[in-house]
This record gives sequence, C-alpha cells and structure tokens, in this order.
Amino acid sequence: MNQAKSHFRSELAIIPPVAGAIAVLVFALMQIGLLGVLPRYAKDLPPMPWWALISLCGGIVVGIIILLVGYVNADSKRRGMISLLWTLFVIFVPKGLGFIAYFLLRKPLLIPCPNCGTEIGSDFRYCPKCGHALTPTCSHCGRSISFGYACCPYCGKSVAATATS
Ligand SMILES: [Zn+2]
Ligand SMILES: [Zn+2]
Repeated sequence: MNQAKSHFRSELAIIPPVAGAIAVLVFALMQIGLLGVLPRYAKDLPPMPWWALISLCGGIVVGIIILLVGYVNADSKRRGMISLLWTLFVIFVPKGLGFIAYFLLRKPLLIPCPNCGTEIGSDFRYCPKCGHALTPTCSHCGRSISFGYACCPYCGKSVAATATS
C-alpha cells in the first residue's frame, strides 16, 4: 500500500512544472469566464450554487486532463517513444481513447546499462553502445539462457562460466 503510494507520487513528480502552471491558469480562467463573465450574458443558466459547482468540477476535470497530457509527454520521453507524436495523439483523440491507447501501447521503461549507464530498452540482450551482454548467452551456440543454468538447454554443453551480471 505504502509502496504503491510512493510509486504514484514519484510518477506524479515527472509531470513537467509547465503543465502544472497551465492547468492552474486554465482552471482560474475557466472560473472567471464561467462564474464572472458568462452569467451577465446568458440568462438560462442553472441557479448559482449549482452553476458554481458545475464550473468547479469542469475546471478540475480540464486541469486533470492537462496534467495527464504533461505526464504522457514526460513519460513517453523517458521510454524512448516519439514524445511529440504521443502528446498530440492523446490531445486530439477524443473521449480519453488516446490516453487508453497510450497506456496500453507504451513501451517498458528504459533501464541503465550496468556497464556504461546508457539508457536502454528492458528487452535488449546487448547494450547498443558498449556491447555489454545483459542476459547470459551460451558460449557455444550463442542463444540466450537464464542465470543459474549449468548446461545450455539448446545445445547441451556446459555453460557454468558464461553467466554475466
Ligand atoms: Zn553499455
Ligand atoms: Zn548452447
């Protein structure tokens, strides 16, 4: 529970500050427009307490959407995805479907290469920069195997010495 909470908090921390600023600004402008300006011109609005509640909820929803767009922008960047494309995608695909598609299709997080520190895909077998082997491979047939195997399951030769970390 606690771990999930701190994970959620660290995910929130990647939202760019500019997205937070835009969300607050848009929220404030919406309240000024809906509560301060619109009632002077529109005659058939709901009674005031209801109208205040509606504009408050509307502002919160729009603010959250702006923060989510900021999250997708930063999150896609750190996953090595095309950030601008995904940001525009979630903005313009309606009814939240862009966000759903993003969370279904996003790539796994990049991990640092244990040898040189380059950010690499979690499914990579070798670091593209320094060539460090990220999963152990059989020194005889070259196929990837798991840590702790004494013999290669593909060619049957002993592989005890080939494990890398
Ligand atoms: Zn490397
Ligand atoms: Zn083998």
